Amino acid sequence: MKKKQQQAIYEKMHKNTVYSKDAIKPAFRRPKVSNNMYYEDFYDDDFEIEKPHKKIKVVNPNACPLYKKCGGCQLQQFTYAEQIDYKQNLVNKHLKKFGNVSPIISMASPYNYRNKVQSAFAEEKNGRIIAGVYQSRTKHIVDTHRCMLENKLASKIIYTIKNDMKDFKITPFNPYKGSGQIRHILVRVAEGTGEVMVVLVCVSPILPNAKHFVRHLVSAFPQIKTIVLNVNKDYDGLMLSKHEKVLYGPGYIIDKLCGKKFRISSDSFYQVNSIQTKKLYNTAIDMAGLSGKENVIDAYCGVGTIGIIASDKANRVLGIELNKDAISDAKYNAQLNNIKNIEFVADDATDFMLEMANNNERCDVLFMDPPRSGSTPDFLNSAIKLAPKKIVYISCNVETQARDIPLLIDGGYRVQKIQPVDMFPHTRHIEVIIMMTRV
Ligand code: SAH
Repeated sequence: MKKKQQQAIYEKMHKNTVYSKDAIKPAFRRPKVSNNMYYEDFYDDDFEIEKPHKKIKVVNPNACPLYKKCGGCQLQQFTYAEQIDYKQNLVNKHLKKFGNVSPIISMASPYNYRNKVQSAFAEEKNGRIIAGVYQSRTKHIVDTHRCMLENKLASKIIYTIKNDMKDFKITPFNPYKGSGQIRHILVRVAEGTGEVMVVLVCVSPILPNAKHFVRHLVSAFPQIKTIVLNVNKDYDGLMLSKHEKVLYGPGYIIDKLCGKKFRISSDSFYQVNSIQTKKLYNTAIDMAGLSGKENVIDAYCGVGTIGIIASDKANRVLGIELNKDAISDAKYNAQLNNIKNIEFVADDATDFMLEMANNNERCDVLFMDPPRSGSTPDFLNSAIKLAPKKIVYISCNVETQARDIPLLIDGGYRVQKIQPVDMFPHTRHIEVIIMMTRV
């Protein structure tokens, strides 16, 4: 079949599903579920913060008191067991047609799992400093110093900064008066090593009493291994700019995950739930059944985590990722772990796979972990041409995954296992690993 024809059929079949970040729609909005409980599900570019849930009746006695105001969680009206039911049904709805869906790998203690915590800072008229998340689509900050999802140490550091900053003549930036410095604080915790990074996002590189402030924080929290000042004057929706000044330490922290070390910089992509990430990666790598002889592709590899962890069990690994900074982190990470059988390429995954397919190259196992928008027909067709024995497709969006799988089935693959993993308890997001073999 001609490529254009195939693309047209594919698009027609899936005209209601999500194709790219630009086309993000309220894909599974449900007006009413039961007993006056409402889901308001909107796909958002940055899915962390969403619309506040004013209409929701909260039946979970352990729900966060700020749940209705804050947009960070979407399912706290339910107990965790009910959330898992909801997510299992969601995965079944989209993926059961391809095979049996295994029970979700859930979290034993689904709280305080976020190893990356960000907080917006502002000063009220009466001089009180508030810190927390923006209520979606507003400029109001919900003061969330006891968020149930955040790493406790990270919350404590932010709370301390909020309480003590004025002693150092540091105040939140006030855009109306043009006074103050701090817009956001970002804290990242490497849970495998205990190292902590603090990023002060300010409007200018000059911070009053910076040396004393840094000394104060480091002596209060010896786990802090680096403090970075990120200068961001823009309102482009991005929290961090490229302009950084290291105030203390090396400017990055090192984490240990699944036996390997990883460098984390302020802006690195790194999974936010370390406990579940271990389960996700180990399950995905186990499913690949590597014997040590395989040539492996890790497509959409980020900072190289999956490929690096799998490299001991493979002959060669090739990681492909669009983001050049992530690729330089991935190369650094390979050296940090003294891994010699891995290579990383900064390229569009589709372009790279097309080129490999045109050169008649082969691979034995393909890991693919695309962003929410999923993969592309060209990528999937090239994957079919490379003819790996196994494809392990990891996705954080069941809809785009359900859109992509039939193309691989048409190309001669059979779904062997569908394993959801709850990476983001209390939010409506769910990660799914699908393992397919070539028939
Ligand atoms: N596997 C990694 C990252 C997964 S997130 C991990 O577990 O940490 C998806 C990654 O795909 C992101 O790093 C993003 O930068 C990358 N990406 C997005 N579009 C891409 C494209 N067209 N080609 C290659 N990589 C892409």
